[in-house]
Amino acid sequence: AHKTRVTVVGSGNWGSVAAKLIASNTLKLSSFHDEVRMWVFEETLPSGEKLTDAINRNNENVKYLPGIKLGKNVVADPDLENAVNGANMLVFVTPHQFMEGICRRLVGKVKADVEAISLIKEMEVKIEGPCMISTLISQQLGINCCVLMGANIANEIAVEKFSEATVGYRENKEIAQKWVQLFSTSYFMVTPIQDVEGVELCGTLKNVVAIAAGFVDGLEMGNNTKAAIMRIGLKEMQAFSKMLFSSVKDTTFLESCGVADLITTCLGGRNRKVAEAFARSGGKRSFDELEAEMLQGQKLQGVSTAKEVYEVLSHCGWLDFFPLFATVHEICIGTLPPSAIVEHSERTPKI
Ligand code: NAD
Ligand code: 13P
Repeated sequence: AHKTRVTVVGSGNWGSVAAKLIASNTLKLSSFHDEVRMWVFEETLPSGEKLTDAINRNNENVKYLPGIKLGKNVVADPDLENAVNGANMLVFVTPHQFMEGICRRLVGKVKADVEAISLIKEMEVKIEGPCMISTLISQQLGINCCVLMGANIANEIAVEKFSEATVGYRENKEIAQKWVQLFSTSYFMVTPIQDVEGVELCGTLKNVVAIAAGFVDGLEMGNNTKAAIMRIGLKEMQAFSKMLFSSVKDTTFLESCGVADLITTCLGGRNRKVAEAFARSGGKRSFDELEAEMLQGQKLQGVSTAKEVYEVLSHCGWLDFFPLFATVHEICIGTLPPSAIVEHSERTPKI
């Protein structure tokens, strides 16, 4: 019988963990080909070895997920077209800023019946308005695209600590079930819900709140203040999502992709960590500089999300309704000091 082939497009911190989860399942599920291909953006390591060769030799992503075996059936491939060739299911998991270029290179290379899923947390603002990454994939490649988001700090899942996740799907529940089957393990519990936009906006917007939480940590304002910021942030996430897409469901915010991802990212995420360092420097060091120094090649999404959200808010005349979102961006670009996060966010939203 025809077996389903899976390719993971991306091999960063989360991309490598996603490949590990999937590869453990393709070995067990007879409807899938054992081999999972993983596209690698090629780079040369300080040792002179190519990253792809190092991954295949060690069965480990020595740069982005050191110390974790991916499974022998994960095969790293630096050639994007070759990596997706023949795949029936594509998992997109790169920092969002590379997705336009990746989609452009894949146009015409992917058959219309291929199913995709995006694990990418971000949105892009185009002249026509905001565009979610799953929509970019769907429109550029002419394929269906689900999303998977949740309280999923990659390094914790890598060492098999329990967590939950949410798959968002549009119409086809059977496809959603297939993704659930492909990702679920004893330590990774996945629930499907019919709300792609809601799930993707939750994952995207919580990164802006995590930047705010990082400022609070950097200013040493304590747990109550941080909880207040998380509460206000969650309300803005919900209001913004529903203003953009009337189809977004309130219950989505109570799933792993909503409140749980917000909490874990505000406690232990990279956005929080770098924002804390930014606030400790009094806003004197730039996010770009801190990201390069602290994350060693891994990428932040929250600062650019705050900028994209700000553009939508100013374009729609909604800035006054979303004081926390607006203030995060103004602090990131240096218009306001980090200390503005509390006083400005608590301005009562007029919604
Ligand atoms: P990452 O932050 O580790 O980013 C590094 C990756 O970017 C590497 O694979 C690198 O090769 C790649 N890269 C660098 N320059 C590139 C270029 N020019 N073209 C293409 N690729 C390039 O990546 P990640 O942690 O896997 O995150 C991917 C997505 O998953 C993001 O949207 C992130 O928000 C989301 N996410 C991350 C986590 C996590 O804990 N890491 C959890 C959930 C969701
Ligand atoms: P950071 O990118 O802030 O680490 O957040 C990771 C995440 O999305 C957890 O679900």
